[in-house]
Amino acid sequence: MAVADDDTDALTNAHSLEQALLGSILATVPDALIVIDMRARIVSFSAAAQRMFQYAESDVLGENISMLMPSPDREKHDGYIGHYLDTGEKKIIGVGRLTSARRRDGSTFPIELSVGEVQDQGQRLFTGFIRDLTERQQAERRVADLQAELAHAGRVTAMGTLASALAHELNQPLTAIANYLEAGRDLLAQDGPVDRDLLGEAMSESAAQALRAGEIIRSLREFIKRGETMRQPEPLRGLLAEGAALAFIGIDSRGIDMDVSVDPALDKVLANRVQLQQVIINLVRNAVEAMQPRPVRILRLFAVPTEEGKAEVIVADSGPGLDPDMSRTLFTPFTTTKPTGMGVGLSISQTIVEGHGGRIWATPSQWGGTAFHFTLDRADEP
Ligand code: ADP
Repeated sequence: MAVADDDTDALTNAHSLEQALLGSILATVPDALIVIDMRARIVSFSAAAQRMFQYAESDVLGENISMLMPSPDREKHDGYIGHYLDTGEKKIIGVGRLTSARRRDGSTFPIELSVGEVQDQGQRLFTGFIRDLTERQQAERRVADLQAELAHAGRVTAMGTLASALAHELNQPLTAIANYLEAGRDLLAQDGPVDRDLLGEAMSESAAQALRAGEIIRSLREFIKRGETMRQPEPLRGLLAEGAALAFIGIDSRGIDMDVSVDPALDKVLANRVQLQQVIINLVRNAVEAMQPRPVRILRLFAVPTEEGKAEVIVADSGPGLDPDMSRTLFTPFTTTKPTGMGVGLSISQTIVEGHGGRIWATPSQWGGTAFHFTLDRADEP
């Protein structure tokens, strides 16, 4: 502002120019801008917000902003504002956050939200800039899909190579064992006294060959272990929120009560981001599919520290729970209860989690559905 004139006309002009400028910015800025007052009532709703949320400004002015949020934020938002006004503790103001929003038709979509605050003569307003991440995330998801496919193709080739090498290596001791045992059987079948020395030799040779076969398998395990995935410190909350947002793209997520909560003691974990997101996507999609016919659909992503100093991630749903036949072969490839399922999601997830030095398992959830748990190494100080 370059107005240092005390001429009121000039000030008024400057003021209306400022208003016009603001109006023009509001009409053209691609992000949605929503302004609310201290009681969370909407006082301004930009053109982009109208397009993004499918509401006209007149539909929402004076309404509570929580109408644009999915559960549980919808119910909790007044509490969030109250907490801030009482304590001054900023949880979202000034920090961008990845979360979900709700359109007029009830569908949810991933957004990046930045909240600011304006104070003027005892009045406070909050401004929210909202960017729809659907497109960006769709692009990211395509990349993640491609990478997963490549990783999968890579695994198949590597497994093919390994399998033939293994067959070749193991063939030799197994043939030797068979030969020694057959020789022993022939010795026993002969008339007259048994040549104990020769029989003993055949048995100890076959035992030695069996140990050799074991050795081959052991060195193969070592080899696989050495091929560990490249991991780096990643903030766990971001990994979970992004993974969940990616999983929701392109599926009907209406009516799902979703929440991500990470224990404040946890910060970063050692992870390969793309692979870990693949695990979250698999688990979240399975949960959403399992809950599809249910009237109450609760999905919770938790992360808690474990006694062993690791981080445990839990994806819990209120679906029908695991099929009893399935629970034994859950992580076996190509086992599925779905008509169009491939049955590889969980086995890939297991490979990834174990490649990260963790383990994965399932238990019943507190809502009668399923909870998948997996552990990760922490990159922060436990
Ligand atoms: P797919 O989803 O293609 O069937 P997965 O390996 O991801 O392959 O899952 C294997 C099976 O595990 C599913 O077919 C389903 O029976 C069961 N399952 C996985 N997640 C859940 C869940 N959250 N609730 C109930 N069953 C599940």
